[in-house]
Amino acid sequence: MKNVLTKKTENFPVKKLDWNKIQLDMKEKLGNDIYDSWLKKINFIDEFNNYILISVSTRFIRDWITSRYLDQILHIVKAHRKEISRIEFTINDQKKEISEIKNKVNQFDNEVIQKVSFIKDSFFQYNRIDPNKNFENFVIGSSNKLAFEASKKVSEDISHYNPLYIYGGVGMGKTHLLNAIGLKFKSKQKVMFISAERFMYQFVKSIKSNEMVKFKDYFRNTDILLIDDIQFMNGKEAMQEEFFHTFNALIDKGSQVIVSADRAPNKLSRIQERIKSRFAGGLVVDIQSPDYELRYKIVRAKINELQLNQKNSINLSEEILKFISLEIKTSIRELVGALNRVISFSRIYNKLPSLAETKSILKDLLNLTENKVTIDLIQTIVCQFFKISKNEMLSARRSRYLARPRQTAIYLAKLLTSKSLPEIGRSFSNRDHTTVIHSVKTIERLRQEDKELNANIDNLKNKILYNRENEI
Ligand code: ADP
Ligand code: MG
Repeated sequence: MKNVLTKKTENFPVKKLDWNKIQLDMKEKLGNDIYDSWLKKINFIDEFNNYILISVSTRFIRDWITSRYLDQILHIVKAHRKEISRIEFTINDQKKEISEIKNKVNQFDNEVIQKVSFIKDSFFQYNRIDPNKNFENFVIGSSNKLAFEASKKVSEDISHYNPLYIYGGVGMGKTHLLNAIGLKFKSKQKVMFISAERFMYQFVKSIKSNEMVKFKDYFRNTDILLIDDIQFMNGKEAMQEEFFHTFNALIDKGSQVIVSADRAPNKLSRIQERIKSRFAGGLVVDIQSPDYELRYKIVRAKINELQLNQKNSINLSEEILKFISLEIKTSIRELVGALNRVISFSRIYNKLPSLAETKSILKDLLNLTENKVTIDLIQTIVCQFFKISKNEMLSARRSRYLARPRQTAIYLAKLLTSKSLPEIGRSFSNRDHTTVIHSVKTIERLRQEDKELNANIDNLKNKILYNRENEI
C-alpha cells in the first residue's frame, strides 16, 4: 500500500515536509495532554500539491481530531508549507476501532461521538461526491449568487453553459457547488468528480501501468465531468494534451464540463493557451469574499441545522454568533471551522461560552487580540492583581509571593501570545526557556488542583484579553 501512496508526479515539491517539526509545533501549540492523547500517533504518509495524507489507527481518532484540532493542525502545517490547504486521512487499523470506541465512550459521552463530523475516507475513492454538500444547504449572498445560479442552471439544463468555469479564493464554496452539481446528476447520468491533482495522478499511473486506453475510455464516457482546482494541472505537456483532447471530445458529444479554479482562466500559469481559451469560451463566474450579511446567514444556517438534527443542541447567544460573523472574514471554511470550534467547547465543558471565552477559543484566528496582547501588558495586569511591582516580578528573588505571580505571568504569556519559549524567557529578565517550561507546567498542574487559583487565572485572562480600556 505504501508504494502506491508514495508514487508521485514530477510536479510535486522536492523537499519533504518535516513531520517531526510539525509534531513539535503541535505539542507546543496544543499542549502536551492533547498531543500525547491524540496527535502523537499520527503517521505522516505523503504530501501532494495542496494536501497532505496522514494516517491514524481508527476512524474514531480521525473524527475526534477532525472535529477538534484539524484547523489548528492545518494552520501549523501551513506555516511550514503554505500551499497545503487540506488534510486527508487514511485509517490503518480498522479492527482496533471497535474496542477503541468502547473504551473512549466511557471517557466522553456517547453523544459527542455520534455528533463528530463524518469525514469520508476519500483517498481511494475516485468519485468523491459528498451528500452533505448540496444546493439546499448552500447559503446565498451577493458574493456567490451568480456562481450558485449558474450551477443550478447547469444542473437543470444540460449544455446551456459549457464549460462552466467557477473561480474564487480558498474556502469560498467552489467545491461545495461542484459537489452539488454532481449530486443532482448522479442518479441519472455518469458523473465524474475529480480534482486536477487526482487527474494527474491517475494519468501518470495509467501510463506506468500501460492502461492509457482504459483511462481515456473512462473519462470520455462520462456525461458530466467536474474538475476541481484546475490550477494544479500545470506543466506536463503530455497530460495537458490528453486533457485537452478529453475535454474537446466531451464537449463535442454534448457532455457537460464544470471546472473550478482559484483564479480566472487567463491568470492560470503553465496551462496551454488553447485550454485557457476553451475555458474562457464557456461561462466564467467568480465567487468573492463573503460580506457580513452572508457570513451571518451561514452561521445561523449551521446553528439551525444542528438544532434540527440534535435533541440537546447548542444555543449559542446572538452576541456570540454576531461576533463570529463579524470577526472571521477570510473565508467560509474558516468561518465554519471557528463555529465548530466554539460548539466543541460547549460540548466538552457542557456550557455555553461567554464572549470572553469565545475570544479565547478563537484567539489564533482573531488577529485583533493576537496583536494587542503583549507580554508587557500581561506583566502589568498580573503585577497589579498580585499587588507587586514590576521590578519585583522581574527580579531574581524566588520567594513564593513573587514566584507565583511570575509563573502566572509566564504561563499567560505562553497562552495568550504567539511568542516562543525563548522569547518569553527574554522578556522575564533573560530567563532560560526551561524556566518558562517549568512555570507553564507548574501553573497547568495547579490549575487542576487549586480551584481558587484557577478562577484567578480565568479572571486575569479575561482582564488581559478584554478589559484593556479600563486598565490600570
Ligand atoms: P473551496 O472549494 O472554494 O475552497 P469549499 O467548497 O470547500 O471551498 O467550502 C469550504 C467550506 O465552507 C465547506 O465546508 C462548505 O460546505 C462551506 N461553504 C462554503 N460556501 C458555503 C455556502 N455558501 N453555504 C454554506 N456552506 C458553505
Ligand atoms: Mg475546494
